[in-house]
Amino acid sequence: MPNHADIVIVGAGAAGLAAGIFAAETNSELRIRLLDGAKSIGAKILVSGGGRCNVTNQKVTASDFHGHRKSIDRILRRFDEQATIRWFDSLGVPLRPENTGKLFPISNTARSVLQALLQRCAVLGVSLLPHHRVLDITKDHDMFVLHHSQGTLTANQVILATGGQSLPKTGSDGSGWRLTTRLGHTLTPIAPALVPLLLDPSFFHANLSGISHDVMLTTRVNHKMIDRRCGSLLWTHFGISGPVVLDASRFWVLAEKHGHNVQLHLNCFPESTPKDIEQWFMQAAGAPGRKTVESLLAERLPTRVATHIAQFGQTELAHSTANFLSKENRRALIHMLTDLPLPVIGSRGWNFAEVTAGGIPLTEINPNTMASKTVPGLYLIGEMLDCDGRIGGFNFQWAWSTGYLAGQHAARKQRKEKSPIPQHQ
Ligand SMILES: Cc1cc2nc3c(=O)[nH]c(=O)nc-3n(C[C@H](O)[C@H](O)[C@H](O)COP(=O)(O)OP(=O)(O)OC[C@H]3O[C@@H](n4cnc5c(N)ncnc54)[C@H](O)[C@@H]3O)c2cc1C
Repeated sequence: MPNHADIVIVGAGAAGLAAGIFAAETNSELRIRLLDGAKSIGAKILVSGGGRCNVTNQKVTASDFHGHRKSIDRILRRFDEQATIRWFDSLGVPLRPENTGKLFPISNTARSVLQALLQRCAVLGVSLLPHHRVLDITKDHDMFVLHHSQGTLTANQVILATGGQSLPKTGSDGSGWRLTTRLGHTLTPIAPALVPLLLDPSFFHANLSGISHDVMLTTRVNHKMIDRRCGSLLWTHFGISGPVVLDASRFWVLAEKHGHNVQLHLNCFPESTPKDIEQWFMQAAGAPGRKTVESLLAERLPTRVATHIAQFGQTELAHSTANFLSKENRRALIHMLTDLPLPVIGSRGWNFAEVTAGGIPLTEINPNTMASKTVPGLYLIGEMLDCDGRIGGFNFQWAWSTGYLAGQHAARKQRKEKSPIPQHQ
């Protein structure tokens, strides 16, 4: 039956490719097909990590993700970062850690990652079908019927790996969720995450474009703090980016989507309390030599940042002599430096988001197998699920871990084996 497969995987991104490889390694006799709507496979892998692909992180725990933490923990334990390192080594792509904890291929190219995955699929006989967009999936007794852009295909089991909606031009346009909800699953509200934020054009950010420095960002929703994190912020012509902004963005975007009052506050001195800053300011201002507020702040901040924040409240403040500042003005300045409300007006949207917040709830799948609790024979993996990781290789780790579990389990089920899936050695 040429139009029948034992396992069909929909979506040949990181999660789908991993699932295909692990299914075929578990049972080499299975007919496994990987369908993808895109003309060429792996576009998102190629652009990832600035073209270098941050494959995983030295330390991955459930707390690096947002979603149902108990399920995430269970899933990650079955195929953790060490398993990923060993697996990529076995694929001929040794990984190397950077001092941030991120692991990249020694080759420094995302292409080497994609090529290794595609080569492994070819060796194992996993049939890759690009330009096959799946339009609908129905169930006829125990058989799945997949209606795709080139015809139909039947399958005993289906692994859905259609991704979220980030960077839709790569093929992940959210259509996979429709397939899943038509089969009976639900979907939590979704939003772009790991996404740069836009600031009101009247703010001073454009003057600082290209400058990055360490800050603390606090997100308050309905006046309650829901997130606080430190890291590098990059000022841009449109607003703010950089790791700390990308990680914080999901909170702002989701709160705004729900119509909440959300505010993002900037602290330029993440290591010190306002009291420490005031003490330092008074000491430094009182030292010999007449320093302006601007030149004094420039000792600890990039000069342009110091100038614009000092000028933000009062135009003349930056050029005032620091030692002559009234207590009131000094406190107002320090407040601005440590708790400046940023006028966020939106995010750069799906075309600039690295990942999707929200998706199919993890409570609807079995975390030991990635099998749907609603539809027997269906598995859900990767970014389409309600789980998003922070910057640092965590989202790919999620793709490899979920792909491993679904691929192995679907192949074992096909063999009708009852033995449990071992932890990857
Ligand atoms: C610019 C950028 C850089 C990134 N860098 C990193 C990084 O360095 N490290 C990291 O950990 N994460 C990174 N990420 C996130 C990471 O790439 C994703 O989380 C991960 O690729 C998700 O894998 P996935 O297989 O679940 O989904 P995807 O990679 O999105 O794959 C889904 C596939 O399904 C196909 N598809 C969708 N709908 C259908 C349909 N109806 N029929 C058939 N096929 C369909 C799509 O064409 C696509 O190929 C980055 C993301 C972006 C956008």
